[in-house]
Amino acid sequence: MKVEDLTIKNIHQGLLKKEFSASEITQAYLDRIKSQDEKINAFLRISEDLALTQAEKVDQLISEGKSISVLAGVPMAIKDNILVKDLKSTAGSKILENYIAPFDATCIKKLKKAETVFLGKTNLDEFGMGASTENSAFKKTFNPHDLSRVPGGSSGGSAAAVANNECCCALGSDTGGSVRQPASFCGVVGLRPTYGAVSRYGLIAFASSLDQIGPIAKNIEDAKIIFDIIKGKDEKDSTSVETQSFSHSVTQSLSDLVIGVPKEYFKEGIDKEVREAIEKVIKKAEKQGAKIEEVPLAHTKYALACYYLISPSEASANLARYDGIRYGKSEIENPEIQSLMDVYLKTRGEGFGVEVKRRIMLGTYALSAGYYDAYYLKAQKVRTLIKQDFEEAFKKVDVIFTPVSPTLPFKIGERKKDPLQMYLSDVLTVSAGLAGIPALSLPVEKVKGLPIGLQIIGKPFQESEIFKVGQFVEKLVH
Ligand code: GLN
Repeated sequence: MKVEDLTIKNIHQGLLKKEFSASEITQAYLDRIKSQDEKINAFLRISEDLALTQAEKVDQLISEGKSISVLAGVPMAIKDNILVKDLKSTAGSKILENYIAPFDATCIKKLKKAETVFLGKTNLDEFGMGASTENSAFKKTFNPHDLSRVPGGSSGGSAAAVANNECCCALGSDTGGSVRQPASFCGVVGLRPTYGAVSRYGLIAFASSLDQIGPIAKNIEDAKIIFDIIKGKDEKDSTSVETQSFSHSVTQSLSDLVIGVPKEYFKEGIDKEVREAIEKVIKKAEKQGAKIEEVPLAHTKYALACYYLISPSEASANLARYDGIRYGKSEIENPEIQSLMDVYLKTRGEGFGVEVKRRIMLGTYALSAGYYDAYYLKAQKVRTLIKQDFEEAFKKVDVIFTPVSPTLPFKIGERKKDPLQMYLSDVLTVSAGLAGIPALSLPVEKVKGLPIGLQIIGKPFQESEIFKVGQFVEKLVH
């Protein structure tokens, strides 16, 4: 058994056929992390005891002849902004350095019920703010395909861990691209579900009207298995929806499909290699009978500005709780403290990194009296226009194909000093987030040894259609 070859399906079959035990599989991944992770720094912490206990339980169930779920005994990694009871959850921030989760996130509860094995918590940009995982307060993660390059972000640790076979699959979170862009940079599959598809309870909030938890896996089938387990209504997240809201795909082949291609996503600023790779896939799909239709998404040019007003605004409100009194590593014992205000200022001044402070300032400004109408409210109106563009487009097409990232994975340090350059990496992913619709990243080609991802955007709650189309494309490109 080689961990490089394992998918959820073949772990499940191997366990049923008793080719290996869950404990052996788990140990194999733990060994792999120990020998490999020094190189890429995907993990912040390993939860060896938890993983081995969970694996033993699966072996017990199998030996008792009990039936097991398809995820039972499957070793998974979890982004460190998702709470797993009794494990540290830092969200990549110094301010939560000592925070131990007192409860399980709903998706974790569901995965535990399915007897999934949790190997550990993965690195991320602090509170999910970034596109390179360089904004983590703890360490940088490196792209397994080229160690001089970033893995993308903010779920860079999860994507790199899957790509480097340090886990079978992982969870990430996506606010404006944080599952899809690292999946694209690391050559793995990543889904941003429809807003409301997966409960956000137990996800450390960044921007609540945008945040979604999504699977990262080696192929579409695995991503689908995870999604099907974690989706659905949760009393603890009022924005989550009933399972019946999801529609089933009836598409039988590519010739049943109308694929929308928005020219706004192929314009200047998009690397030639990226554009050509995606155009090539579109051509191949057309050859197989898919109908290609150009769809205008006219407000795309405002999406980035809109996202960088709305998400920091929500972040500034969400992060107010880290004041050293309610949450956060407190400076209250610091001898310099004279007043309650000092506690707040010192705690937040010491605890937050540069990018997080920048976003809090941007958001506070955009929400302040006198500027609210000009910035926040205006951005919300533009958001509606972006959503309407997609609604119009989906009257004519079944799915939309675009690149995920405008560039190949960039070099470590290349964009860190220039926040606007960094924000530009999100130009093709923020719109789906703003519109609340599902989108998936699928690796389609490697250029100069670096992966390129195709983004498949779908209608709300039509994840199954995206998966179906993704599986057709998987066959086209392999
Ligand atoms: N890169 C984007 C940002 O910095 C998206 C992050 C995310 O989806 N969490 O906000």
